[in-house]
Amino acid sequence: IFNFSAGPAVLPTTVLEQVRDELLDWRGRGMGIMEMSHRGKDFSGVIAEAEADLRELMGIPANYKVLFLQGGATQQFAQIPMNLLAGRSADYIVTGAWSKKAYKEAQPFGAVRLAGSTEADAFTRLPRADELKLDPQAAYLHICTNETIHGVEMFDVPEAPAGVPLVADMSSHILSRPMDVSRYGLIYAGAQKNIGPAGLVIVIVREDLLGKASAITPGVMNYAVMAEHGSMLNTPPTFGIYLAGLIFKDLKAQGGLAAVEQSNIAKASKLYDAIAASGGFYRNPVELSARSRMNVPFTLANPALDADFLAEAAELRLSGLKGHKSVGGMRASIYNAMSLEGVDALVALMQDFAARKG
Ligand code: PLP
Repeated sequence: IFNFSAGPAVLPTTVLEQVRDELLDWRGRGMGIMEMSHRGKDFSGVIAEAEADLRELMGIPANYKVLFLQGGATQQFAQIPMNLLAGRSADYIVTGAWSKKAYKEAQPFGAVRLAGSTEADAFTRLPRADELKLDPQAAYLHICTNETIHGVEMFDVPEAPAGVPLVADMSSHILSRPMDVSRYGLIYAGAQKNIGPAGLVIVIVREDLLGKASAITPGVMNYAVMAEHGSMLNTPPTFGIYLAGLIFKDLKAQGGLAAVEQSNIAKASKLYDAIAASGGFYRNPVELSARSRMNVPFTLANPALDADFLAEAAELRLSGLKGHKSVGGMRASIYNAMSLEGVDALVALMQDFAARKG
């Protein structure tokens, strides 16, 4: 089956086969990693290796902490202001459904400003630099670098005013291409797209931003406390961390993020080219320069044909293509683990369907 779901999403089969084998017996220990103490030697090795591999893949500088936390990316929407606001004000740029949620969730924690929004254009583009009203005194500037629902990706990240840390939700495109981590104060990503199982969230935070949490921040939500305890103040999501570690090794074996990016460019180009070549039968509303390589929403000119398209896709074992209810139409999520073969199968259906129904 080719799984185009936005998340939880497709994972590499070879990795899943390894997990299947190791669930019962990890490296000859007679039990699986889920059954082992998180304080033991074996699991300590697993988490240390996962962090080292992620640092190598992303080129994470030494003055950043890597945290493996629970609660998903949504919990970070609240945890970020709890940890970073420090009685000041923060700026949010709203470019789609997810950054809008992050902006809303931050509001109970203090002063939060809308520094820019493309909602008036139905989130089909990114704001130009001259449209942004950035506060040079802000505690941080929050962005979402890939909007999973609207299919909008930032290839040029906005410049924050000097001294204002950039905070980025990279949930749906982390590890899809090289990123310059040093441009950010904090990066966070829910795992269930390019990394692994839902529930695990990775936070990469610059050390000088630690220790500013509001006094009522619980320990498990306090970045400084979690960093001090190596993400193990309490029992961490051990299975998720183990699986994430396998994915990191798999990406390294593929040649790292530069190689992964080439494959993602090839897949996304095929799909966008097919939409463009359909003579209006299919349409993607996003401005060319902001089209996501991970999430490709498209509508049919005649929405009455949506159900037929999805039924034919299901027959061909192409799953998860129904668009988000707020946007309609279709959405093909083509994360790292989607093969070119899967994209070819979708493009073949699109061309055949348009030829018959157009
Ligand atoms: N941010 C983005 C960009 C997302 O795509 C999602 C959804 O999966 C979330 C945040 C929320 O993540 P979670 O469901 O892990 O809380």
